[in-house]
Amino acid sequence: MRFDVMTLFPQMIEEYCGKSIIGRGIEAGYLQVHAHDIRNYSKDKHRRVDDTPYGGGMGMLMSAVPVCDCYDAVRAMDPEKKTRTVYLSPKGKLFNQKKAVELAGYERVILLCGHYEGIDSRAIEEICDEELSVGDYVLTGGELGALIVIDAVGRLIDGVLADPSCYTEESIASGLLEYPQYTRPEVFRGKRVPEVLLSGNHKEIEKWRYRAALEETMRKRPDLL
Ligand code: SAM
Repeated sequence: MRFDVMTLFPQMIEEYCGKSIIGRGIEAGYLQVHAHDIRNYSKDKHRRVDDTPYGGGMGMLMSAVPVCDCYDAVRAMDPEKKTRTVYLSPKGKLFNQKKAVELAGYERVILLCGHYEGIDSRAIEEICDEELSVGDYVLTGGELGALIVIDAVGRLIDGVLADPSCYTEESIASGLLEYPQYTRPEVFRGKRVPEVLLSGNHKEIEKWRYRAALEETMRKRPDLL
């Protein structure tokens, strides 16, 4: 799967995506992440991409011209792929696991990151299929949101994780929160690992885990039940 991120800060994307599971997914050829600097498409000699908003008001707005020129160039790079273009925005629909699964069905996702006061609305109308928010708060830029989408979608792509059960049997994806997990030592600061997990009785362990997942969900996210 291919991700293209249109941003004023490509290093933020490259730095994160070079590491850990997503980095290994890229190295192994399951994922591609390309960060594109919108500033490279500025026609201004000082590489400016922002301007004051019409009608006045605080802050600067990213201009439609470099954003759409960048998009045209990016789109032309791999035109035959089934593509979805997303603008990261606090106005968007809340991104969740269901949306991650949906986006994993595309061959390519293009992510547009705003900065400052955002982007001229005409550029968003022109190039984006949808707007996604990563939470009901306002960030300084769309890069963290793009990374959240890449991470959540990327780990669903075959080969990125060792086994599909790594993501189907997890919190949220399974419909419940995951049961509590423990590793060595058996006793830590007086707290003992539940006996059943040491029993080797897989049927009993399954039952315990299901009950513990229900309790965990009831306590922490009753809205999921
Ligand atoms: N003026 C905009 C508004 O009130 O809707 C907010 C602009 S915000 C300071 C700058 C950029 O950060 C946005 O263009 C967007 O790309 C990104 N951003 C901010 N909050 C976000 C969120 N909750 N989810 C995704 N992206 C967000």
